[in-house]
Amino acid sequence: MRPTAILRERAADVHEPAPHPDRIIQVQEVAGVDGLVDFHTLTARVRMLLAQAPLTLTILVITTLLILVPRPDLYSDPMYSWGMVCVLLLTVLAAALPWERLPLQARWTIPLLDFIPVALIWNVVGTELYGVSMLLAFPVAWLTWSGRRPVWAIVLSVVGSALVVCVPLVTGTVPDPRQYMLTVMTVPVMMFALALSSSVQARSMDRQRRQIEHALTSAAQQNRMLNTVLETADTGIVVTDRHGNDLIMNSAQRRTHQMALPAGVDDAPEADLLIYEPDGTTVIPPEDRPVRRAVQGESFTSRLVLLGEGASQQALSVSAQPMMDENGDFDGTVVVFHDVTDMTDAVRLREQFMANISHELRTPLTSIIGYSDLLMEIESDPQVKALAGPVLRNGERLLTLVDGLLDSVASAAEVTSEQTDMVTLLRLSVESAQLRADSAQVRLNTDLPATLPARVDPVKMAQVADNLISNAVKYTLPGGAVTVRARQDGPCVEFDVEDTGIGMTPAEQSKLFTNFYRTEHVRRAAIPGTGLGLAISRSLVRAHGGDITVESRAGEGSRFTVRFRRDGQLKV
Ligand code: ADP
Repeated sequence: MRPTAILRERAADVHEPAPHPDRIIQVQEVAGVDGLVDFHTLTARVRMLLAQAPLTLTILVITTLLILVPRPDLYSDPMYSWGMVCVLLLTVLAAALPWERLPLQARWTIPLLDFIPVALIWNVVGTELYGVSMLLAFPVAWLTWSGRRPVWAIVLSVVGSALVVCVPLVTGTVPDPRQYMLTVMTVPVMMFALALSSSVQARSMDRQRRQIEHALTSAAQQNRMLNTVLETADTGIVVTDRHGNDLIMNSAQRRTHQMALPAGVDDAPEADLLIYEPDGTTVIPPEDRPVRRAVQGESFTSRLVLLGEGASQQALSVSAQPMMDENGDFDGTVVVFHDVTDMTDAVRLREQFMANISHELRTPLTSIIGYSDLLMEIESDPQVKALAGPVLRNGERLLTLVDGLLDSVASAAEVTSEQTDMVTLLRLSVESAQLRADSAQVRLNTDLPATLPARVDPVKMAQVADNLISNAVKYTLPGGAVTVRARQDGPCVEFDVEDTGIGMTPAEQSKLFTNFYRTEHVRRAAIPGTGLGLAISRSLVRAHGGDITVESRAGEGSRFTVRFRRDGQLKV
């Protein structure tokens, strides 16, 4: 099973192994930084041994050098030999004792005892090889680097170092004690400095470690929270990196993927997945599929696709939002799949119902209008005419309303597309509004290029232009003007209808494209209309992959702008 395939619409190998289904967020586990062994993951014994090893090895190296020099009188001294035995014994103890079971303070035993072999060796060679005093640095660094009880670590380091350098005075191996003291008194001072800086370093590293631990704990907590949220959501969610590899995928999305598999197949290459346009039969080419587009950095909302076949086909609304890194470069994408099957079914049912009822109403209405019109023509009795007049007018109003309803249903249906000159189309709309504009004393101006070819449904687009121009004329007071403009803007065509009419408030503009909405002012002024024209116009333009926007100021005028792609592509 390859539940991630629907997402891997990148051209790369689609047969990569799927992430474990129980694990939405893929966390990369690291054994250590940059491939190094993490010291804290070792056992206490190994760590103790590693901490002791530098001193032991250094003493062995010094001894070898003494043999090579050669100074048998030095390394064959019994004190020197005891020092060697002592350090080796401590090394064995470091590796052998069960440190995990002993209190933490017990781990200081080894570095504290390390002062003894150093003192024995120093007693033998210290007066001649002052550099051997550097052996003190090992237990001092160990004590202070541990980060525990820093003051005690520094005090013990300095006292231990001072005692070590004083041993030759006690044993009487120094011919000139005064001269000796002057020479070696810097050693405890240097060890104090070393202990202090080592302790400061250890504390700062300890603080960093605690901060990192805290950050990791809260990251893990957030991961758990995110997992729960993602698993609870009934919306399919996928996050990919910049190369299209899945980083996050929730189980709703894995279920979605199952729906796209052909019947009886557990897994399928991307090209075989059943992903269709909203008509339910046109297969979406792989390069146009939402995830492929998302992985290429596109951002879109509500791209409707159908998954699967037949009665089990499901409608999904897909949205994608790219993620950017700190340099503003594409760094991956979030794709969300929302199941809108119930909603699209409900809309289809509603449209069917509206279409049926509108049809049923149209037939008797046409007959009422026809007969009352005939009555008005043939009847000479003014009383009968006065009665038949309102019947005819109201019948016609009702018919306009029913036509509007039919239109609003039809508008959602597929639009065709053919090569059309938008300038010719707009001029025809302006011409047909001219009579009404003249009688309303509104100037009708055009600002159009010579030609503006576009692939549109000429009937539906003319319906949009007619509606916007007739609205502009209808809602402009005598003496005002209406201007129709059109232009090409890159891959799009834009035309707008601007008037100097009554305008609208921002609140009114927000409801403008809702079925049956009419502004308060227009309703009170009893300007005839149904409140359907703009809703229909917008769904027609959207069916062309475009949109209508409005800018308006109450009392000053309005501008409606229609924008769509001129190549007829329905980009969402
Ligand atoms: P109708 O014009 O039949 O009422 P529409 O859907 O075309 O229906 O318009 C809805 C409402 O929007 C109108 O009733 C009117 O209040 C407002 N409207 C539309 N066009 C304009 C315009 N150009 N200027 C001011 N108001 C407008």
